[in-house]
Amino acid sequence: MVELFEVSSDEIKRIIPGTYEKVVKVTDAESGLVGFISVHNSAIGHAEGGLGISLGGLRMWPYSDEAAASGKSPETLALEDALRLSAGMTYKSAAADDGLGGGKAVIIADPAQYPAGSPQRVKLMHAMGQAIEMFAQRYPQSTYVTAEDVGTNVEDMKIIEQVTSHVSGTGHDAFNGNPSPFTAQGILAAMKEALGVKTMLHKRVAIGGLGNVGGRLAQLLIDEGAQLIVADKDAEKAEALKRRFPAHVLTVPASEIHKQPVDVYAPCAMGKCLDDETIPKIQAKYIIGAANNQLAEPRHGEMLYNLGKIYIPDFIANAGGVIAVGMEVKHKHEGKSLTLQEIGEVVERKIRTNTRRTIELSQGNNIPLSEAGMALANERLAAARQNKNWGEREEGRGANGKGWAHGS
Ligand code: NAD
Repeated sequence: MVELFEVSSDEIKRIIPGTYEKVVKVTDAESGLVGFISVHNSAIGHAEGGLGISLGGLRMWPYSDEAAASGKSPETLALEDALRLSAGMTYKSAAADDGLGGGKAVIIADPAQYPAGSPQRVKLMHAMGQAIEMFAQRYPQSTYVTAEDVGTNVEDMKIIEQVTSHVSGTGHDAFNGNPSPFTAQGILAAMKEALGVKTMLHKRVAIGGLGNVGGRLAQLLIDEGAQLIVADKDAEKAEALKRRFPAHVLTVPASEIHKQPVDVYAPCAMGKCLDDETIPKIQAKYIIGAANNQLAEPRHGEMLYNLGKIYIPDFIANAGGVIAVGMEVKHKHEGKSLTLQEIGEVVERKIRTNTRRTIELSQGNNIPLSEAGMALANERLAAARQNKNWGEREEGRGANGKGWAHGS
């Protein structure tokens, strides 16, 4: 039986500072599901033009290595991840002005033990989908809509869609629902805007992590004539890229990627990669990548600033995917058509504008870029709170109270 247990604000505060709108632990003994749903802040979703929902990916991760290294339990680490990532989604969506609040969900499991297409994977995703549906019915003001993330994919979203409509990334019209190509496009746009160049021809870029985003970003950079140094925990991914593009690609071990003599370091794997140990060794002037929560602690943003680094905050640079999925949700809901070109143009424009504004805010106020990015997001959040339109949303929900997407 799928069950939800509310996580108290005291418990949250023991893990992370900040105020969270609604956080639950989800369990299901039959499928083995243990996870969390966190809605950090839905103000933007409830402002005028908002979609009435909070969106963020569903991460499937075992947290066992991190637990062994930190002495914390996988459950504590998963909750911490859901909290940090959902807050990141609030700021990302606020800066991107996409009409969405910030949420995130996590399943504590090793994706390798739930192979794609296996009955146990279907059971797990169905249980998570039921949990998301129950969450929407129990807390209609904080409705969470899921999407793919590390460890999950479009197929999983299609399975979840069988039990709840609170899911995105399943595609609409020409868009197949995969956010990664648009995230990669946005990172490239942020790089060009920050460097003030038309193309990345002859620029040197170090990419850590060649997954859905990093792999696509590598291809885009090679197409523009950049020189790459790449690394992946799975060394074969890096070697395969080098074999395909020997004139453009060098490989190094994953532990060395941040130390490379390049123009741009692009972290595209897991978060907390910018810390006391790594930052002093970074040679690149620019740090612009896809990984969420790159700063191990907020003070590392200041550390980068004091070293003269141009760090474009992750939630500014990597918003291309959520912009695309936000457009999917909106167009699907309104029954409008959607072209890839339309999405591409919006991603390019928003990421470039926000990158430029973040740099200007930092320079104009002598504040770290990490703070400037937050200032930009907070400006939009404050405007959304002023603009809050809860009453109208409530009426829009209909008698069943099930939320935005039912019947659409
Ligand atoms: P992914 O799982 O497809 O790829 C991650 C890659 O990083 C894998 O190839 C993995 O082997 C590698 N990796 C893991 N740990 C590593 C390490 N320590 N050193 C080097 N390589 C390592 O994930 P993705 O979808 O490409 O996302 C990458 C990052 O970007 C994640 O932090 C994700 O949250 C973030 N992000 C993704 C999107 C998106 O659209 N997919 C959007 C915004 C942010």
